[in-house]
Amino acid sequence: MLSGQQSRSLAQIFDSDAVLVSESDRTHYGQDWSRFISPDPAAVVFPKEVSQLKALIALARSSQIGLVPSGGRTGLSGGATAANGEIVVSFERMNRVLDFDADSRMVKVEPGVITQHLQQFAIDQNLYYPVDFASSGSSHVGGNIATNAGGIKVLRYGLTREWVAGLEVVTGNGDYLSLNQGLVKNATGIDQRHLFVGSEGILGFTSSAWMRLTEAPQPLRVMLLAVPSMRIALSVLSICQSHLNLTAFEFFSQEALMHVREHLSLSSPLSDAPFYVLCEFEQHRGGEAGLSDAMAVYTKLSEKSWVSDGVIAQSERENQSLWRYREGISEAITSRTPYKHDLAVRISQAPEFLEAVEAAIQNAALPFEIVWFGHIGDGNVHLNILRPEDWSVARFMKACQPLGLQIMQVVARFDGSVSAEHGVGLLKKDYLPFSKSDSERAMMRRIKQVYDTDGVMNPGKILD
Ligand SMILES: Cc1cc2nc3c(=O)[nH]c(=O)nc-3n(C[C@H](O)[C@H](O)[C@H](O)COP(=O)(O)OP(=O)(O)OC[C@H]3O[C@@H](n4cnc5c(N)ncnc54)[C@H](O)[C@@H]3O)c2cc1C
Repeated sequence: MLSGQQSRSLAQIFDSDAVLVSESDRTHYGQDWSRFISPDPAAVVFPKEVSQLKALIALARSSQIGLVPSGGRTGLSGGATAANGEIVVSFERMNRVLDFDADSRMVKVEPGVITQHLQQFAIDQNLYYPVDFASSGSSHVGGNIATNAGGIKVLRYGLTREWVAGLEVVTGNGDYLSLNQGLVKNATGIDQRHLFVGSEGILGFTSSAWMRLTEAPQPLRVMLLAVPSMRIALSVLSICQSHLNLTAFEFFSQEALMHVREHLSLSSPLSDAPFYVLCEFEQHRGGEAGLSDAMAVYTKLSEKSWVSDGVIAQSERENQSLWRYREGISEAITSRTPYKHDLAVRISQAPEFLEAVEAAIQNAALPFEIVWFGHIGDGNVHLNILRPEDWSVARFMKACQPLGLQIMQVVARFDGSVSAEHGVGLLKKDYLPFSKSDSERAMMRRIKQVYDTDGVMNPGKILD
């Protein structure tokens, strides 16, 4: 609940329709896609100007209330969840394209621009914005920057960080900083832009960003392959990388395919196999060369018995149909409240890592179904532990936490990451020590203090 003084102060900063306090609005805006922590914010506000962000920071500092930046709320770690009476700061209404510099191939956007709208803006300019994933129709550029979002094209184009050419922020101390202004070269000491990318809103608000665009790839084609093991999937990756211009290389398990097929009532694309890989590659101009290269790759893989079945899309429509088997997985398992682990290891270690994690889960002897999928082309695997249908969410969560710690021991053994691209938020905090040393975490705390001395920005996220 806001105090009377806080309500009056908000009324001085915002029009009345930009402050929401009803229970349904607070619940709606107070949580991200993860559903393990109940939201309980005091209010939701919708800034449109930097001056309002500065005024909010001043209010938060003087009245010791936390501020939770909120984008499209598709986050999977509770980073945008407000569970302790904070003010949710939604960027939904800061969603303008501010500038376009065609020669520099850059566009300046407000943080509330939806990722897919940025992709479309690029297409309209005959250019391309490559960061893409299943939630890009809802996520915001500001949220993507704050989580350093990755997705399906990282193998070729890298993470969001690569595309942030300049960043304007309001820090937790209320300072407005314009960082790197879209420059390609700028050797003037510490590039603070990169501290904000991936910082999950704990240092300040992103108020606008210069995003790089690039030239569009040639028309793309998709090939879906059935593979007998993860080890062989990596050999398949190596062959595909040598012969095709890959833009994505994804994998999913047979269990994942089963859930998607059930959820979307789809027929089986291929005969049964433990794993499937989906590779997307550029056709050469004219379209023929890329396809014949893919056919040659497929023949080679079949001769080695590295694939047991496969299909190559013959049109854009067939591309989309094949992508549905991969992109539909998250949605298909949502009703089972999946406990998601977003893990990364070096690409070469992925098969051994999967086996070690499966062994840890088996040791725990819990009746859990597991579903693997992810971006194997960059070493990022998503492990989804599904809630047994007759278990309550609370019981499931309680069992997943100690199991999570055992899985993290495996991650640490492999020098991996406990969060590849989903951030730490509230849900992965206990896991952080498995990836970041005591000294690194202590440094992170000190950096936060520099930008957010009173700790008003996204309190309790990443670090206690
Ligand atoms: C079906 C599905 C598939 C997904 N696939 C992928 C994937 O392949 N790759 C991937 O990386 N992620 C994926 N995600 C996770 C999610 O979409 C990304 O983390 C995304 O970047 C979150 O953006 P958002 O706008 O929804 O942010 P939110 O969830 O609203 O917020 C995320 C974090 O950003 C902070 N934040 C938001 N806006 C600002 C701002 N203006 N200033 C400062 N901090 C801010 C929030 O406080 C929070 O900490 C997936 C999610 C779903 C539901």
